[in-house]
Amino acid sequence: MLNKTYKERNNMEFILPEELKEEPVEEDKLYDLIIIGAGPAGMTAVVYAARKKLDTLVISGNVGGQTLLATDVETYMGYQFITGQELMRKFEEQVWQFPIPLLIGDKVTKLSEDDNFFAVQISKGNKFRGKTVIIASGRRARSLNVPGEKELVGRGVSYCATCDAPLFDGMDVAVIGSANPAITAVNDLTKYARKIYSIARVSVKVDPVLVEKAKKSGKVEFLAGYTVNEIKGKDNVESIVIRDINGDKGLDVGGVFIEIGAIPNVEFAKDVVKLNELKEVEVDCDCNTSVVGIFAAGDVTNAPEKEIIVAAGEGAKAALSAFRYLIKT
Ligand SMILES: Cc1cc2nc3c(=O)[nH]c(=O)nc-3n(C[C@H](O)[C@H](O)[C@H](O)COP(=O)(O)OP(=O)(O)OC[C@H]3O[C@@H](n4cnc5c(N)ncnc54)[C@H](O)[C@@H]3O)c2cc1C
Repeated sequence: MLNKTYKERNNMEFILPEELKEEPVEEDKLYDLIIIGAGPAGMTAVVYAARKKLDTLVISGNVGGQTLLATDVETYMGYQFITGQELMRKFEEQVWQFPIPLLIGDKVTKLSEDDNFFAVQISKGNKFRGKTVIIASGRRARSLNVPGEKELVGRGVSYCATCDAPLFDGMDVAVIGSANPAITAVNDLTKYARKIYSIARVSVKVDPVLVEKAKKSGKVEFLAGYTVNEIKGKDNVESIVIRDINGDKGLDVGGVFIEIGAIPNVEFAKDVVKLNELKEVEVDCDCNTSVVGIFAAGDVTNAPEKEIIVAAGEGAKAALSAFRYLIKT
C-alpha cells in the first residue's frame, strides 16, 4: 500500500471525519487523469476532475505547496484575511469530499509519453499511467549558491521572511534581492529585526510604496551594487561577505533572507513539454502544453501572475480542458 495516512502526511490535527476512507493507489490501472502537485492549482484541478467523474490519481510532494508558507493571505476572495495554512486546510477538506487516491510525500521523477498515453514515474520507482496529465508542480526558492548557504539553512539562512521573521527579534539581518519579494521581506522584518541590510546587485526595482514603507521604519540600509560571496558562521549565521567594485566587505548579521526569485519544479518534464527561457511550462489560455493531453496550471507555467487565486483558477481550467479532451477522444 503506497498511501500514507492523513495524520502521517500532514503531521497536523485530524480535521476530517474518521469514516472517510483513503482510496487505494493502483499501479496497473490506466487513469483518466494524473495530477502532479497538490498546491492550490492541483487541488482545484482535483475538485473539478472529481465533479466530472474522471478517474484521477494525485501525486504530490506535499499538500498545500508554497501557500503553507504564506502567513497573511489578504487576496483570496471570500476571505478578507486568512493564513496560508488555514486556506490550504479548507482546500484539502474540499478535496477529501471525493474518493480520489492521493499519493502524498512522493516526488515525480519522470513524465514520458507511453503508447498514446503518459507514464509518470515516482522516486520510489513505481510507474503510473494516465490518458491525460496536469502538471501543477509549482516552484521553489532559488538559492544563491555561495559557500556557507547550504550548511546554515535553518540556522540563520532563510528563504521565507513571512515564516521566519519573528525568529530574528532584535537582531541584525540581511535581505538579498532586488525585486518586490525582497522589499516585502524587508518590510516583514522591520517588525522584528533591529537593523536590516537590503542588498541588491542592481538598484532595487520595486513598488515605490514598499520602499517608502521600508525607509519610514528607520531600520533599513540599502546597499545596491553588491553581490554576496559567502555566508559565515559556526553553528549559526554570524556574518556575510559582500563585494562591489571596491572589493570585499564584511557585515555582522545573524540572519540572511534570500529572496532572489524562484525556479519552476519541472525537471521531470523538461524533455517532454516545451519550456520558455525561464524554464516555465508554456501553456495557452486553455492550459494546453505543447503536448496534446498534457496540461499545466499554476506557478509552474508561464502564466504571468504567481498568486493563489490565479493558480486555483488555472487548475480549474486545466481540469476542464482535460475533461473536454477526454470526451473527444
Ligand atoms: C512565502 C510566500 C508567501 C506567499 N504569499 C502569497 C499571498 O499572500 N497571496 C497569494 O496570492 N500568493 C502568495 N504566494 C504565492 C502562492 O503561494 C503561489 O502562487 C501558489 O502557491 C501557487 O500554487 P501552485 O499550486 O501552482 O504551486 P505550489 O503551491 O508551488 O504547489 C506545488 C505542489 O507540487 C508539489 N510538487 C513539486 N514538485 C513535485 C514533483 N516533482 N512531484 C510531485 N509533486 C511535486 C509540491 O509538493 C506542491 O504540493 C506566496 C508564496 C510564498 C513562497
